[in-house]
Amino acid sequence: MINLRTLLFPPRCPFCGRVGKREEPCKRCKASARELTGEVCKCCGVLPEDCFCRPLKPFAFERNISAFYYAGGARTLVLRYKERSAPQLAPFMAKRMLRQIEGRLEGDFSAITFVPNTMRATLRRGYSPARLLAQELSGMLDIPVVEGLARNHAPQQKYQKNAAARWKSAKENYLLRNGATFFGNVLLVDDVTTTGASLDACAALLKKAGAERVYAVTFAASVKKKKPR
Ligand SMILES: [Zn+2]
Ligand SMILES: [Zn+2]
Repeated sequence: MINLRTLLFPPRCPFCGRVGKREEPCKRCKASARELTGEVCKCCGVLPEDCFCRPLKPFAFERNISAFYYAGGARTLVLRYKERSAPQLAPFMAKRMLRQIEGRLEGDFSAITFVPNTMRATLRRGYSPARLLAQELSGMLDIPVVEGLARNHAPQQKYQKNAAARWKSAKENYLLRNGATFFGNVLLVDDVTTTGASLDACAALLKKAGAERVYAVTFAASVKKKKPR
């Protein structure tokens, strides 16, 4: 018998949102969402062949861990989450991030913080995607969210394709909030990482504010396909 709840809220694939028989990933998303299980780079968090570390200029964070590659079903999910104002997707995303934290990180964390959005983006969506993920993880891990970072009021940066430009603008994009203080190990949350530039800029600021070590955790890592050699 179909109940009203199923009729009003039919079970959907958490990745693409298609209605299915159960609340679980559909076949297509299961096949296309690549979860970052197994051996990953202990610094940038992706498979060794996709490593985007910068050996000559190490990141300000100890390591990044990501739950998925930013592709296929995982990309669809992030786009739904960010572009269609779908905050209800945060618990599923945070659960997948939690798996990574529990499997790969050891030690205690004094605080969870996140890579801030511009005020304009937050107003447009009605929420901050990274803050919401931080709040979900905070509840799961019982570690407080401490808001220590803010966006600079620099003119809105366009998406920078050029890696050097991204690194430069990332540094200018963030600043510490007045009186922000951290200590011990801090978890830094964001939805997607591409070059690690934003995470690096934010981690450097958190360390300036007293954090000893910063561990980044993102839902997805976007990597460029390397040309075959
Ligand atoms: Zn799906
Ligand atoms: Zn790496």
